[in-house]
Amino acid sequence: MTYIAKSNRYSEMIYRRCGNSGLKLSALSLGLWHNFGDVDVADNYKKIVHLAFDSGITHFDLANNYGPPPGSAEANFGKILKEDFKAYRDELIISTKAGYSMWEGPYGDWGSKKYLFASLEQSLKRMQLDYVDIFYHHRPDPETPLEETMAALDLIVRQGKALYVGLSNYSAEQVAQSIPILKQLGTPCLIHQPKYSMFERWVEGGLLNLLEQKGVGCIPFSPLAQGLLTNKYLKGIPSDSRAARGEFLREEHITPELLNKIKALNVIAVERNQTLAQMALSWLLKDERITSVLIGASKPEQLKDSMKCLNNIEFNNDELDAIENILKS
Ligand code: NDP
Repeated sequence: MTYIAKSNRYSEMIYRRCGNSGLKLSALSLGLWHNFGDVDVADNYKKIVHLAFDSGITHFDLANNYGPPPGSAEANFGKILKEDFKAYRDELIISTKAGYSMWEGPYGDWGSKKYLFASLEQSLKRMQLDYVDIFYHHRPDPETPLEETMAALDLIVRQGKALYVGLSNYSAEQVAQSIPILKQLGTPCLIHQPKYSMFERWVEGGLLNLLEQKGVGCIPFSPLAQGLLTNKYLKGIPSDSRAARGEFLREEHITPELLNKIKALNVIAVERNQTLAQMALSWLLKDERITSVLIGASKPEQLKDSMKCLNNIEFNNDELDAIENILKS
């Protein structure tokens, strides 16, 4: 059946400006790291993408290596773009990245100009696109000079293959070094993509302030700590969960101490009339420095649940203190 986007899709979403750029992003973005590969069920992931767009999510985040197999998430998203979203390309922000191992030999990994340029060419082919909106360097490369990696990002923008560039997993110090190089080249750094959740707080040690000062946006990934910050593990490990699959999140990560914290956080969420997933997302969005929160979903119902975080992104001091006490315990 032909997909037609919901006519009121922009009515419920919040849009935030990305740093001091001209671009606004939906407060929630959808990531395609898991659940969109060739191993996954096409009907299910199509429903997730349709629901996201119908709910006002404009931003879809990919990377060269998402799958499995690597590359298949881009190819599958490309099919959805072609079949269903053709009329909506100008309403979409599509991101991809390169920086992790993608193909054999010395040119399929890290941060050389050779790798970034070739990888984006491949990504565009897989997604059947002329350009992406944001192209990221996925992780810092300790061996390639920053000047070379930044020059590759600048070249890609000058060629019209990406409109904006971003950095991911860079430390505050590495971001501080990269921003002026990009600025001098004439391609400002639009956004940084760090891991950030109630359970992963490193960005609060300087990165967030730096991004704000420099007018760079911030889009946290794994905001639910891959599903830990939800109510799904309260009564054991569901067989269809990421922890049961055991590759990136494993059963042994869910220690009794961690489970106690999750249970205590869940009590506060219930008092706020939220699910724990909603509260964990609201907790990030309470900070205006966060442009968008990058969520994943294995089912449309999860996305529906998470989206409701937007109904309450305010916290009172008692709630914030109670959350801090649990996280510190
Ligand atoms: P999350 O922390 O949001 O975890 C998503 C997972 O949590 C889902 O797949 C699902 O897992 C579970 N879940 C989601 N919503 C709910 C809910 N409402 N109730 C119960 N369970 C729920 O994010 P991800 O770790 O998936 O990362 C999000 C995106 O961030 C990625 O897709 C990618 O785009 C990006 N990313 C970037 C990285 C980088 O290096 N730049 C690294 C990692 C991610 P389940 O399978 O158990 O149902």
